[in-house]
Amino acid sequence: MCLFCEIAAGRIPSTCLYEDEDVFVFKDINPQAPVHFLVIPKQHIDSLNGLTPENASAAAKCLLVAARVAKEQGLDGGYRLISNCGDDAGQTVHHLHFHVLGGTKMGERVL
Ligand code: 5GP
Ligand code: ZN
Repeated sequence: MCLFCEIAAGRIPSTCLYEDEDVFVFKDINPQAPVHFLVIPKQHIDSLNGLTPENASAAAKCLLVAARVAKEQGLDGGYRLISNCGDDAGQTVHHLHFHVLGGTKMGERVL
């Protein structure tokens, strides 16, 4: 099983911010902003390239939850949402995830 499947199953500890039957949200272990959390579908999907009409609702739900948790985390001034897809983007964990970054003015740098 992949690292994020293990985290979503609770077999590897994380700081969980939200969980339901489809989505798991936890703090990034190496934060790149004052607030940096990851939103993942519990279902294993490799990346955005693994989305199909059948599983796309899992990604849609991640986006809904991302906005909700961003609000709970006090990101009223805005936030950035990133999904690295594949080697050129620097994807290191091959389980679809959305980074949510905020709590500072990020300017135009990427991540
Ligand atoms: P990627 O580079 O694939 O877009 O992002 C993977 C992210 O997962 C990185 O920001 C990294 O810090 C985070 N990460 C890697 N291993 C762990 C872990 O064991 N626990 C947590 N909470 N985050 C992790
Ligand atoms: Zn997985």
